[in-house]
Amino acid sequence: THFGFKTVGKAEKQQLVANVFHSVAGKYDLMNDLLSFGVHRVWKRFTIDCSGVRKGQNVLDLAGGTGDFSAKFSRIVGADGRVVLADINDSMLQVGREKLRNLGVVGNVEYVQANAEALPFADASFDCIIISFGLRNVTDKDKALRSMYRVLKPGGRLLVLEFSKPILDPLSKLYNFYSFNILPKVGEVVVNDAESYRYLAESIRMHPDQDTLKTMMGAAGFENVDYYNLSAGIVALHRGYKF
Ligand code: SAM
Repeated sequence: THFGFKTVGKAEKQQLVANVFHSVAGKYDLMNDLLSFGVHRVWKRFTIDCSGVRKGQNVLDLAGGTGDFSAKFSRIVGADGRVVLADINDSMLQVGREKLRNLGVVGNVEYVQANAEALPFADASFDCIIISFGLRNVTDKDKALRSMYRVLKPGGRLLVLEFSKPILDPLSKLYNFYSFNILPKVGEVVVNDAESYRYLAESIRMHPDQDTLKTMMGAAGFENVDYYNLSAGIVALHRGYKF
């Protein structure tokens, strides 16, 4: 397939990812609930519980899209804290900003259009960075991880929530069938866009597995890197620290 990233160039992948998220932005939240049967909410809740974020802290919700994490962290950090929702895609940012305003989340959230590979923030700006279902879409993941390391404060942590490799073989087969057959069909019916969901399936298949991502985080400078498998490894939460 032409979605095999090994065969597409850097500029092409970036354009592909941009098109996908411009296309799905308006129905992104609905599709998340449909395709994960609502379970993405449980994965996100667990991630927040693992974040250790406290009142008054600065949090970066990177590739934050429609801002599920920004909404939650905004409440946790309170008026003395700050949340930055950063995303490369202005359609996703727009949907996110509107959603958060409707939820009454205002005052301590900023919106920034930015590429994870070259973050436009000063060194040591954040206590915590969360990148949720975002790293998979980034072209140069090592560069992005180094950029995240740079903008973290010493003592800060990075959380990466991402699709990963199911640890049970039968589940893996079922899951592959689901990704490559069911996902595009639902995409076609709900957003009239099977291609975008074919991209989603392919990007999940291509993403580094648990131990590879752990190694990549270590190579970018992160310490004490560990991960938790969620839903038997369909998703993994990686956490690493900057000391
Ligand atoms: N974090 C949200 C969540 O968990 O629901 C949204 C995840 S959505 C699947 C992926 C997001 O990554 C999209 O909004 C997309 O625009 C963004 N993205 C893709 N490549 C990016 C990059 N290089 N830098 C920043 N954001 C990027």
